[in-house]
Amino acid sequence: MNNERRDLLKKTCQGVAAVGVLGLAGFLGVKKQSAADALVWQIDPSQCIGCGACSYRCVLNVSAVKCFHNFKMCGYCDLCTGFFDPQPLARNTGAENQLCPTNAIRRREVETPYFEYVVDQNLCVGCGKCVDGCFSLGNGSLFLQINQELCKQCNQCAIALHCPAQAISRIPAAQAYQLKEA
Ligand code: SF4
Ligand code: SF4
Ligand code: SF4
Repeated sequence: MNNERRDLLKKTCQGVAAVGVLGLAGFLGVKKQSAADALVWQIDPSQCIGCGACSYRCVLNVSAVKCFHNFKMCGYCDLCTGFFDPQPLARNTGAENQLCPTNAIRRREVETPYFEYVVDQNLCVGCGKCVDGCFSLGNGSLFLQINQELCKQCNQCAIALHCPAQAISRIPAAQAYQLKEA
């Protein structure tokens, strides 16, 4: 990939990423005001192996775990393996190759041949398919995290009990939200 082009795209999308991070910080801002010493359940994105259990182990009907996207890491690939099946029958951008079971990821051309991928968390069920796909052939910029606006802060997180990677723990609400870093 052309490094200068990619850096430009990253700067262009920095505002979008900042909104995302500010949004995340916003959840914590609410927690901070209500209980500065409270602990919140969080995924360590560097430990998560995208096993899929987050989508069905949560006590909520639709999991509180959602996919987030670190735009600073993303390669803005045309054939994104977080969006398209990494092993399609035909290697093209056909709709039949799309990975997400709920159409929660929006693909938008930024500048030929680069594309931006934005997650609609209202549609995301936390299945991790995109995370696994991005991690396997891409750069891992898509990751799962617990949405603090949805999480019930169960005494014992039902997902943490079954997480094969011990990726979920409680952290102080006043600390920074755990994001995927490059
Ligand atoms: S593939 Fe799964 S984790 Fe990724 S956006 Fe779609 S529903 Fe969410
Ligand atoms: S603490 Fe409860 S609501 Fe929050 S992610 Fe875990 S199981 Fe779901
Ligand atoms: S259960 Fe653990 S390893 Fe599996 S997707 Fe959730 S956080 Fe990641």
